[in-house]
Amino acid sequence: MIYTNNVDAINTRPKMTQFQLILGDITKQVVDAIVNAANNSLLGGGGVDGAIHRAAGPGLLKECRQLGGCETGSAKLTAGYQLPARYVIHAVGPIWRGGNQGEAKQLASAYQAVFRLAHEKQMQSIALPAISCGVYGYPINQAAEIAVKTARACVLSSTQTCLQAVLFVCFNDEVYAAYNTALNRGKK
Ligand code: ADP
Repeated sequence: MIYTNNVDAINTRPKMTQFQLILGDITKQVVDAIVNAANNSLLGGGGVDGAIHRAAGPGLLKECRQLGGCETGSAKLTAGYQLPARYVIHAVGPIWRGGNQGEAKQLASAYQAVFRLAHEKQMQSIALPAISCGVYGYPINQAAEIAVKTARACVLSSTQTCLQAVLFVCFNDEVYAAYNTALNRGKK
């Protein structure tokens, strides 16, 4: 079941960018790009990465092989192949090592790289998973704060954003609750 809840909107020129919270599967989202929580090799893995590669088909791995990997805190673009999304943005978040190893900066940097690519390609809609919050172990509440804060800053700082919809796709209730809190906190 997919539950959509419009929770926030940022007034940008010339249009509004709407932030939506969704409980569901990112591979099903009909958007310009879905974001993958990838690893440095970009050659696939478990979690959301595995789900995206399975849904996109073998063309995705073939293209990823040409990219030469991706540094932590960066992102690279491919086509979406059999996905409903036109593109996949492969972002590499940090592995959680206790919080004093630059993790917050690296996570924010991964989100910034995603928004740079979205702006470059003049995307109107993107869907983001909770990068680093699965196997990489980033505490969800802290990660959600960074995701929301960075996404808002990226949208606001771009004078010519085409983004009308930013979907935070939460795979379970815990992730959903963390994003809901983060989105509401920022409104005050
Ligand atoms: P990482 O290695 O960056 O931690 P994971 O894929 O292990 O990446 O987890 C990142 C987040 O993606 C987790 O919150 C996980 O629950 C979520 N996730 C896993 N599969 C999907 C999916 N199909 N759609 C959306 N989110 C997903």
